[in-house]
Amino acid sequence: MDSEYDVIIVGGGAAGLSAAIYTTRAQLKTLVVEQLAPGGQILNTSDIENYPGFPDGVLGPDIGMAIHRQAENTGTEFAFDQVIGLKVQGDTKVVVGEEREYTAKTIIITTGGEHNKLGVPGEDEFAGRGVTYCATCDGNFFKGQDTVVVGGGDAAIDEGMYLSRIVNSLTVIHRRDELRATKVLQERAFKTENVSFKMSHAVKEIRGNGSVDRVLLEDLKTGEEYEHPTSGVFIYIGFHPNSGFLQETVTLDLGGHVITDIRMETNVPGVFAAGDVRQYSDRQLGTSVGDGITAALSAYRYITEG
Ligand code: NAP
Repeated sequence: MDSEYDVIIVGGGAAGLSAAIYTTRAQLKTLVVEQLAPGGQILNTSDIENYPGFPDGVLGPDIGMAIHRQAENTGTEFAFDQVIGLKVQGDTKVVVGEEREYTAKTIIITTGGEHNKLGVPGEDEFAGRGVTYCATCDGNFFKGQDTVVVGGGDAAIDEGMYLSRIVNSLTVIHRRDELRATKVLQERAFKTENVSFKMSHAVKEIRGNGSVDRVLLEDLKTGEEYEHPTSGVFIYIGFHPNSGFLQETVTLDLGGHVITDIRMETNVPGVFAAGDVRQYSDRQLGTSVGDGITAALSAYRYITEG
């Protein structure tokens, strides 16, 4: 079967659009299939201060739209469709969308993922105004302030340790009476002076006036509810990659992340993955861009070198 495209990129966030810029400039016929508007998670991010080249920071939507425009200018094609499956037929890969099927010699999966949400009042209202899901991205906005981290896994403690070096104090709020994080991380956290713990506690509501200034907590052992002052709520209660449509084709880890090698290639030759959907992604704009470029160059080599 002849393929319509050299490369189909599923997902139009930073990783996907960066890959598209490279494949199109390498004269590979490239299609980006995106569910909604291209740009991805950065469209929902306000200030980005850690992306190199922008000493005064840059707004997420500005850089998202600029990368999209750059991909368009190189000649990348776009389709808007919900991808529900991926099939491999010999050398041809078939992306199954709700609208139609698309064929290509190579596929780059850049569908990202979503942070699990607490689902409490105030979480959406104060998103970007005290509520965040990324200490590496936003920690610096809370320099010298009192903050909380919600969750007890590796991500909560690892990112909490990063945050503890920036903020005045950090309180870890965890629903059980023991942490899930690996022992070495736990020990490091227990030894850190400005880190304290509220175990068997749940956040019931995030409150503030324009921006977060406190959370309503429940002590799950006594049922007592009380307010705890904080200017930042860092939520780490898991992350789910958008990879359900790959389950029958590509090897995923237990958390649903796509397993790749260092060239971003999956277990299926010619199928690559980049960005937050990939196992061990650092989930940063810079690393997603880098992943996308590596995947694009690998796709180029796959097509030209066989
Ligand atoms: P995780 O290990 O699944 O931990 C999620 C944490 O959130 C758990 O402590 C869980 O509580 C809590 N939680 C879940 N739903 C909640 C809710 N509705 N309300 C309150 N708390 C809730 O997820 P993760 O920390 O994101 O890690 C994901 C994977 O990445 C893991 O395999 C981890 O090892 C890996 N990772 C590793 C590192 C590292 O090694 N440095 C860093 C980051 C991530 P319970 O404990 O009660 O279930």
